[in-house]
Amino acid sequence: MSDFDDELKDKEQTGEKADSKETDYEDVCFICRRPESKAGQMFKLPNNICVCNDCMHKTMDTVSKFDYQGMLNNANISNMNNIPNMNNIPNDFSQLFPGGMPNLSFINLADFQGEGGIPNKQKLKKKKKGEEAKPILDIKDIPAPHKIKASLDEYVVGQEHAKKVISVAVYNHYKRVATNTMDEIEIEKSNMLMIGPTGCGKTYLVKTLARLLDVPLAIADATSLTEAGYIGDDIESVVSKLLAAADNDVERAEQGIIFIDEIDKIAKKKETRSRDVSGESVQQGMLKLLEGAEIEVPVGANSKNAMVPLATVNTRNILFICGGAFPDLENIIKERLTKTASIGFNSDLKDKYDKEKNILKKVTVEDIRNFGMIPEFIGRLPIIYTLEGLSKESMVKILKEPKNAILKQYQKLLELDEVKLEFTDGALEAIAEKAMAQDTGARALRSIIEEFMLDIMYEIPKDDNIGRVTITREYIEGKGGPIIDIRSNMISAPMDSLNEIKTEE
Ligand code: ADP
Repeated sequence: MSDFDDELKDKEQTGEKADSKETDYEDVCFICRRPESKAGQMFKLPNNICVCNDCMHKTMDTVSKFDYQGMLNNANISNMNNIPNMNNIPNDFSQLFPGGMPNLSFINLADFQGEGGIPNKQKLKKKKKGEEAKPILDIKDIPAPHKIKASLDEYVVGQEHAKKVISVAVYNHYKRVATNTMDEIEIEKSNMLMIGPTGCGKTYLVKTLARLLDVPLAIADATSLTEAGYIGDDIESVVSKLLAAADNDVERAEQGIIFIDEIDKIAKKKETRSRDVSGESVQQGMLKLLEGAEIEVPVGANSKNAMVPLATVNTRNILFICGGAFPDLENIIKERLTKTASIGFNSDLKDKYDKEKNILKKVTVEDIRNFGMIPEFIGRLPIIYTLEGLSKESMVKILKEPKNAILKQYQKLLELDEVKLEFTDGALEAIAEKAMAQDTGARALRSIIEEFMLDIMYEIPKDDNIGRVTITREYIEGKGGPIIDIRSNMISAPMDSLNEIKTEE
């Protein structure tokens, strides 16, 4: 036994690497599935199989108790004479039994593992030496809230209030992470709850933020989550997703962002006779995640099973952002407002709130509780704010202003063919009006544009002479064609072929 330990120590001292191939991933013990960081140095066996010190000792104990009597008749047993003493077992089984184990035919373990042993997807990233002490987001590196907002402004149109709140919250959150002074005055975690209609930019805002801050982001849908043990994803699978987004780097994942969409869908079900496995119990299950806990998550898979290695992720510094459309919340708010001022002019007041546009802004914790979220859950999301539904003007801005606006993308595409693409103001308004009618927010814009750009993208490359295409309101509304300018003299002329396609439909 002690020989093994000595050998291990020797290896550590000399810095000898059993495997000359340096990778970024930790080895995982083939028997107990623990990663190198937990189980210690591994013994490398042929076929890329690694076994940890503990498992190797256990195996050797078992082997030494093995009854060899039954094998005496076998010719191969002469090989056993090569082993003078069991304490001197070499590191490699092939040296031990050059002709293979007597009387036993081994299953080729590599067959189970595929080429290259356990796939990297299921391994943890090694901690890089020297980097450990340095936080990913140094306090000096965290941009001030106004800078975070200015960066968001480049991508997200409108939603001024939401951008301001999120910038301050994120700034405070990462300041708290970087200083790590949780013992004396505990700074509360800035988990957020975002309320806003579909397609108004909730997911987009979070995605942009994570990209700007260069932190891993996991987006999960609350509707797919169920209480552990039921069909659907376990609540902890969201942390597993984050780990995957962080390239299996636990340290990076622990400072990431988890966005849980459609959070309103896990509201407590009213009058239910069956077990509420996807509503209230999911909220209950999320409590410890939101607050901060050590969670054992499977690496490279969605569910825990014997074949998947586990990693421990602490969620204390993970920022949770929940988002949802909360339909009917407006009615709940209106009801509360009318109730509180119900003495006397009841009917008057009802009318007053019906006309009020941004009633969602008046939301309180009480309203959300009435909607069906449990108090403990709301309590762990201290920052609550609303996003507005997009107006026609905002839609037009979304089309052309953000850094990666849809129109800019098409312009770039056509520019590669040396064709200029232009839109008249009327055309942009017409697109926005069409999108408003669909009631799915800015999400509709893309599908509308795709629809009419198909013809343009199909027809333009046919003719090398075309130098400029101008999209008009008439074209969007199907009443005419776009204006085409010929490259040589840039004479304006409506393009008949496009016109025909449009009218054929
Ligand atoms: P939801 O609020 O339902 O999560 P998304 O964030 O997924 O909506 O928005 C859908 C798409 O609409 C985004 O990918 C983005 O391109 C666009 N979008 C929505 N709102 C905005 C906005 N305020 N500014 C810029 N683009 C937006």
